[in-house]
Amino acid sequence: PQPSSGTGAAVKAADRAHVFHSWSAQDLIDPLPVAGAEGSYFWDYDGTRYLDFTSGLVFTNIGYQHPKVVAAIQEQAATMTTFAPAFAVEARSEAARLIAERTPGDLDKIFFTNGGADAVEHAVRMARLHTGRPKVLSAYRSYHGGTQQAVNLTGDPRRWASDSGSAGVVHFWAPFPYRSRFYAETEEQETARALEHLETTIAFEGPGTIAAIILETIPGTAGIMVPPPGYLAGVRELCDKYGIVFVLDEVMAGFGRTGEWFAADLFGVVPDLMTFAKGVNSGYVPLGGVAISGKIAETFGKRPYPGGLTYSGHPLACAAAVATINVMAEEGVVENARRLGETVVGPGLAALAERHPSVGEVRGVGMFWALELVRDRETREPLVPYNAAGEANAPMAAFAAAAKRHGLWPFANMNRTHVVPPCNASEAELKEGLAALDAALTVADEYTV
Ligand code: PLP
Repeated sequence: PQPSSGTGAAVKAADRAHVFHSWSAQDLIDPLPVAGAEGSYFWDYDGTRYLDFTSGLVFTNIGYQHPKVVAAIQEQAATMTTFAPAFAVEARSEAARLIAERTPGDLDKIFFTNGGADAVEHAVRMARLHTGRPKVLSAYRSYHGGTQQAVNLTGDPRRWASDSGSAGVVHFWAPFPYRSRFYAETEEQETARALEHLETTIAFEGPGTIAAIILETIPGTAGIMVPPPGYLAGVRELCDKYGIVFVLDEVMAGFGRTGEWFAADLFGVVPDLMTFAKGVNSGYVPLGGVAISGKIAETFGKRPYPGGLTYSGHPLACAAAVATINVMAEEGVVENARRLGETVVGPGLAALAERHPSVGEVRGVGMFWALELVRDRETREPLVPYNAAGEANAPMAAFAAAAKRHGLWPFANMNRTHVVPPCNASEAELKEGLAALDAALTVADEYTV
């Protein structure tokens, strides 16, 4: 850790006095004052250092303070910090080119937003205008962002408070073999039955009323459920059959997280629209966007697209994206995620599952893994109930506290811990994190039957 200016106590006092935090009861939170961060680590003002197995909110795909990206931001700030969106600006043009080069199929036009939620808002608007249809289908166990339409599409409890404005959104069940809604005993059954359920939902909602189906390619916050073989291809077919726009949300899964540039590449599926954010520039400056297929771009060829934002393609954010993508290519970050996912994280987590009765399932790919923690492996009863708070969540709180005592900052959501380190984490860092997880899981084991 490096010395830092200011004191943690003052930073925290001003935070508690004036900062209103996301998704929180303001009087019940205790944010850690952070003094600095570099690579896969951050530290507090007391010099306690943590290995960050959360990548922030799964966005620092190249770790903190990558010198080349920091330099690119500084250079852009020195030459053109900002400019209005209607002009052609070098950083924006280059970011769009580099992204379009990597997106699957003919997703060659890029509409830039400030983050993931507004990317989803625009993708849905484009789909509605393109089809002239009102409804959007999305999955339970999903997260698409905190703005009105994006949170309505979300399939977790964060949606509930905002459901009054959810007109046109219909939820369905996507595959999740470990907790199958379809009584499936094999992945083949899960795929077939989930597709049958989706097609029935389409039939009963009225195919002619549905503008889009939106899915996270691999649902992230909801539990990193890698879809079984054939599912996404099957959804693609249903979309083609009924003239529905297929939107893949790659805000979390994109830009190297899965060991591919985009998770869609794992499945050989090309959506009509793809949303991105987070990893596009490792979150160094807010940026998101929608990658648009030729067909949908054509809809807005002669007819104006009725949407925009002041900071669409902000030069500072785009310069950070250009530098990030170039760093990822030069340093083999995507390959690192794939290789160490296969050789270190996957086998390491499987070994933990052998030793710890609290681990019900290990699933994931690349640097995108979840451990499903359970009270009972036989019944698969979750370690804490769905959406548990307070005392009911004590086992997960104890697990997370133990991880922190061992120098690991863990991602904990409901009854799961996600292992989502930077995509350029080293083998030694990953092994250090796995050892800390090993110790923390011993605490979770105390709550098993
Ligand atoms: N979509 C997915 C899949 C996400 O994981 C997130 C954020 O976690 C969002 C959308 C929303 O992105 P943002 O928080 O940048 O608005």
